[in-house]
Amino acid sequence: MSQADSFKPPLILVVDDDLSARLLMRASLEKVGFRTAEAEDGLIAVAEFEHLKPDAILLDVIMPKLDGYDTCRAIRKLNGGENTPILMVTGLDDIEAIHRAFDSGATDFITKPINWAVLNYRVKYMLRASEAFHEVIDKQQQIQELAFFDHLTGLANRTLFKDTLEVALAESAKEDSQLAVLFMDLDRFKTVNDTLGHHIGDYLLKNVADRVSSCIRESDSFSRLNKRNAKHYVSRLGGDEFTVMLPRLKDPEDAGRVARRINERLAEPFKLADTEVFISVSIGISIFPLDGTETEELMKHADLAMYDAKEKGKNNFQYYKKSLNIKARERLDFENDVRKAVSNEEFELYYQPQIDLASGKIIGAEALTRWQQETRGMVSPGEFIPAIEELGLIIPFTDWVIRQSGQQQLTWQEAKLPPLRIAINISSKHFVQQKVPEKIAKALQTFNLSPNFFELELTESVLAEQNTETLETLRQIKELGMTIAVDDFGTGYSSMVYLKTFPIDIVKIDRFFIKDILTSPQDAAIVKAIIAMAQSMEMKVIAEGIEEEDQFHLLQEMGCDFGQGFLFSAAVSANDFSRMIQDIRSLVPSCVNS
Ligand code: C2E
Ligand code: MG
Ligand code: MG
Repeated sequence: MSQADSFKPPLILVVDDDLSARLLMRASLEKVGFRTAEAEDGLIAVAEFEHLKPDAILLDVIMPKLDGYDTCRAIRKLNGGENTPILMVTGLDDIEAIHRAFDSGATDFITKPINWAVLNYRVKYMLRASEAFHEVIDKQQQIQELAFFDHLTGLANRTLFKDTLEVALAESAKEDSQLAVLFMDLDRFKTVNDTLGHHIGDYLLKNVADRVSSCIRESDSFSRLNKRNAKHYVSRLGGDEFTVMLPRLKDPEDAGRVARRINERLAEPFKLADTEVFISVSIGISIFPLDGTETEELMKHADLAMYDAKEKGKNNFQYYKKSLNIKARERLDFENDVRKAVSNEEFELYYQPQIDLASGKIIGAEALTRWQQETRGMVSPGEFIPAIEELGLIIPFTDWVIRQSGQQQLTWQEAKLPPLRIAINISSKHFVQQKVPEKIAKALQTFNLSPNFFELELTESVLAEQNTETLETLRQIKELGMTIAVDDFGTGYSSMVYLKTFPIDIVKIDRFFIKDILTSPQDAAIVKAIIAMAQSMEMKVIAEGIEEEDQFHLLQEMGCDFGQGFLFSAAVSANDFSRMIQDIRSLVPSCVNS
């Protein structure tokens, strides 16, 4: 409706075969301000309706050609006719006619002879009721939008997608046709969102939605769809996850073609004001009825295939395979075991000695967690630490490590063993989440231990963030009196900048560089450079993974301060470790003391 239309008085269509009746009704309505139009029979009324778009209709029952009932029924089927108020004009006390009027869809009735004042009020009342009715319909539509569509992209949400898929699956089963479900997850979206900000993230999601939708519109499968509902076939499940369904597939390869097109389209840069952002997507595909017959099953399988695509290097698509299910089950079992292990504290701390390379004395130990699982045997921390992180259990786990190493320190001190520093590994996932310094200080207070006997090993990823919060946390740790070491140095971001920015005491050169130090001049040069640089900044250097005597000698010559590795000892139980510190000579090669 144009703005001018909305100021016009309502238009009432008067339908009666009796000319004088028409004239009287129009005159009466116009007198109270309505506009009117007329039709001399039902056929004309039906023919004129869509063109006139009346706001209400006054309809006589008894007419030649098409009577009032049939006219009413016909109008109700027209576009816009379903909700137009229709006032039927019946004979006085003709109950049968009144029943039929309502049956054929009339809104209200008025009896002949007409009381003009009543007529005007009836029409006004009907219009007011109809307006209220339209408001309710509008509200319902708004609610529907909220309940079934994603507000950011305008795509179907999870609920609508599932409902639509359910219907499509029933149809596919009836028609004996195939259907594909595509499950998509953007690669590295979190990084984009975190580094460029949420408004850029939102912009990207909207544009991804558009590109995916356009790929679907171009697909063969889409041209076989009911286009009115096409927007229900693509959805944003939430975050950076999207799904697509492709009904009536000719063959499963068609789904792969659509997926490839989506991969290609999303690989094109997204242009922002003065920069270009690149993103890619991993896609999993499941096929009805091959990979499942139920909504949940097909979505789960497409999701598993998506993980497979991620594992295969991202930016690609994979079909679901039965083997993925086995892998997923194994993963689930493993996660359950890890969860149990954390709550039952099934771990043990082992200690690997750290040696002063010049004197050969043990200066401390790195606490390394060991997990002997009842059916799996010894599980490597390389496997269970990432699972603990993913399960969100790193905080309770690290709390246990801190308590356990505090307890051990106390036991050793009470046994009058020479005081040694224990180095604890702190996961970067933990570091960003929790007030680490307060936690540690509190734990150590309960044992009445000085923080001087503890060192925290952080990986480069913690420091790469380079924000003021990290700096503040590290300062607090220093203030407490703990030592800070950078673990696995050289493997991650390899930036020297943060060594200057943050209060770091020790750099741990990663095993990767020590491994070939005797045969690779590059590695030897890198190690030398790290030692020189660290010492110029008054930091100590510890070399990880020393396995051979010649490596040890070379590092000694290079002026490396400390060392750790199988040459001296692997990580051992607390009891074995206390025996070891009581007899240092058995541990360090004789050449050290010579
Ligand atoms: P990391 O902190 O770099 O620990 C050193 C790893 O190298 C340990 O493996 C240690 O056993 C191994 N290693 C030591 N000397 C040698 C050597 O001469 N040769 C070789 N080939 N390996 C050597 P582990 O115990 O399997 O731990 C692996 C990683 O798991 C650790 O790397 C650490 O990142 C993580 N981790 C272990 N325990 C904990 C823990 O309690 N908390 C956290 N957050 N992470 C832990
Ligand atoms: Mg470590
Ligand atoms: Mg390390």
